[in-house]
Amino acid sequence: MNNTPKSLRLQIALFGRTNAGKSTFLNLVTGQDTAITSPVAGTTTDIVEKAMELLPLGPVLFLDTPGFGDTTELGSKRMERAGKVFDRADVAVLLLTADGWGDAEEMLVAEIRKRNLPAVCVVTQTDIRKPSDDFLQLLKEKGFESVIFSAPGERENVLNSFKAELLKVIPAERLIDPPLLGDLIPAGGTVLLIVPIDLQAPKGRLILPQVQAIRDALDHEASVIVVRENNFLPMLANLKNPPDLVVCDSQIVKRMAAEIPPEIPCTTFSILFARLKGDLKTLTEGAAAIQSLKPGDKVLIAEACTHHAADDDIGRVKIPNALQKYVGGTLQIDVCAGRDYPANLKEYKLIVHCGGCMFNRAEILSRLQAAKDANVPITNYGVALSFVSGALKQVLKPFPSVEKII
Ligand code: SF4
Repeated sequence: MNNTPKSLRLQIALFGRTNAGKSTFLNLVTGQDTAITSPVAGTTTDIVEKAMELLPLGPVLFLDTPGFGDTTELGSKRMERAGKVFDRADVAVLLLTADGWGDAEEMLVAEIRKRNLPAVCVVTQTDIRKPSDDFLQLLKEKGFESVIFSAPGERENVLNSFKAELLKVIPAERLIDPPLLGDLIPAGGTVLLIVPIDLQAPKGRLILPQVQAIRDALDHEASVIVVRENNFLPMLANLKNPPDLVVCDSQIVKRMAAEIPPEIPCTTFSILFARLKGDLKTLTEGAAAIQSLKPGDKVLIAEACTHHAADDDIGRVKIPNALQKYVGGTLQIDVCAGRDYPANLKEYKLIVHCGGCMFNRAEILSRLQAAKDANVPITNYGVALSFVSGALKQVLKPFPSVEKII
């Protein structure tokens, strides 16, 4: 794995009406012809993604959106797509020309403010038309204290002021990677990772959450021992000192919780990621709501990516079976996958989301918020499996702030 995954990059979304110069700006900043540009309005019809190292911010992912403000049928489809980008943007860039304030900009700024999204404003094509003082005053009144001027041939200046503005508006904590597990172990400590190698394990490699856990432990000067599910007890018996933390895959949590000595702190990859990317409290409360489920209730299984479902697929088979066994009857299970998230969340008694390793934190949080707005409890696969297997209390012990919810 040589490149930083998209889900770990700062996602910078470019918004503006058709022909506001978004694609030209993206090409200017990246120094490449990433996006097709044309004087014909609406050239960008899909989201264009471009990953780059934008020092000193680090790895970023630009999201060039289709233009707003086109009233045709195709235009409204483009707007729908562009609108979904708000769910995953860490920062919004509003692009407009010097005479370009109108309904589209009002709508974009309203969405930015509603979501409390850090935002930067770029006035494009300033080689053709400079903004008037009145126009700059208007932007100030709309909340943009400073504005970037962008014109072809001025890459260095534009890039420097763009980076300075991003650093000004993005909260400092967003630019520092929070620890995945490093804060749970002492410096120089030991972590034991239990990694099942079953039919669903990808050939020849570990999956992203396992790789991230190893890297985070190393970043915190810890030693990492990785074993398969049948080897963790012999490994524990061989160690002179017990590990400071044991982490297992949620599918074997019941076994780990039963067999590991109670004085050794243990948790699951899902719980670590629920804390890192989502909101462990909300997801734990969601798991507690499984107690109120009754046969016949509707449950939504939400997966963040589309993949070929195996016979014993976790979302389509294992989780539904585990929930139905727990409630003692049949549930109505719906499954959604990828970036489609149903609008009718209110119909469900519970949402069980996958770990969302392909999503960034902003997108996971927007899904949690949508569930909260619909007043539907939400949990994730791993937290739900730990709950129904009776192990959740034990694997939440390293997190005293949520341990008492169960
Ligand atoms: S956790 Fe979600 S996003 Fe990650 S591989 Fe599984 S289904 Fe896809």
